[in-house]
Amino acid sequence: MVTFPKPTATRRIAVANQKGGVGKTTTTVNLAAALAESGARVLVLDMDPQGNASTALGAKHTSGEPSIYDVIEGRTTIREAIQQCPSFDHMDVVPASIDLSGAELEIADLSNRTDLLKRALDEYLQSCDEPYDYVFVDCPPSLGLLVINAMCAVTEVLIPIQAEYYALEGLGQLINTIGLVQDNYNPVLLVSTMLVTMFDKRTILSRQVYDEVKNHYPNIVLDTTIPRSVKISEAPSFQQTVIAYDPHGMGAIAYGEAALEIARRSPAVLATLEAKRGEH
Ligand code: ADP
Ligand code: MG
Repeated sequence: MVTFPKPTATRRIAVANQKGGVGKTTTTVNLAAALAESGARVLVLDMDPQGNASTALGAKHTSGEPSIYDVIEGRTTIREAIQQCPSFDHMDVVPASIDLSGAELEIADLSNRTDLLKRALDEYLQSCDEPYDYVFVDCPPSLGLLVINAMCAVTEVLIPIQAEYYALEGLGQLINTIGLVQDNYNPVLLVSTMLVTMFDKRTILSRQVYDEVKNHYPNIVLDTTIPRSVKISEAPSFQQTVIAYDPHGMGAIAYGEAALEIARRSPAVLATLEAKRGEH
């Protein structure tokens, strides 16, 4: 069995791309599950009002359930809103419900509107007896205040990129936004990882997209790509990740390999990326 190196401190990773349907949620829940299965302790924060990550992780998230919305608005602590994921012993989730869709407007005038999530997360992590190895934040498809809150609460951004014709369109805007967050709010933020999703090895286009992304961001793009797979898309309807739903299938294997690559991005590798920050 392959052993996954454990990080020396909690790694906080926001999964972001303002495009919808590129595999953010799928990537968040399956990487989290693969890492939890390897023995890591993992927390997932669902920051998308759609609550798709909550669904895939089997968390209750009907309107009114304590959720990330209450956390952002300071009514509830993370500890009070957290649920343990039924399929994995080491994985917790703070769910999102549709109530969260009102949050951007409600927090817009607060002076501390960008660091509401960070403050709640810092407080929670400091109070944990058993530290988490990874915190993943699943972002909504926008570049609004919820995403800014996610980027302020983490040190790494993981960008899923769908292997399709317009894959790189919008990427510049996303990188610019991350740059603005670095400059204004969170100087330690780093784009640590890009993952090409829905890769179809039968098409030349998939390979072209991969090569182009790899050319632009050679140190950031993972070698592993996530294949297009029916099992991956079916799993959420059973309130499961593909890691639990089809553990030996190619989807679970690919997410397992991607998780291992991420776990192996040691502090030294991350430091190299950090040194190159700003070159993009
Ligand atoms: P996002 O969170 O970026 O909006 P999702 O992760 O929800 O994207 O994925 C969009 C849709 O594509 C979902 O229906 C999901 O099940 C499906 N999907 C994601 N990744 C794959 C894949 N590798 N193979 C097949 N379907 C996928
Ligand atoms: Mg999503």
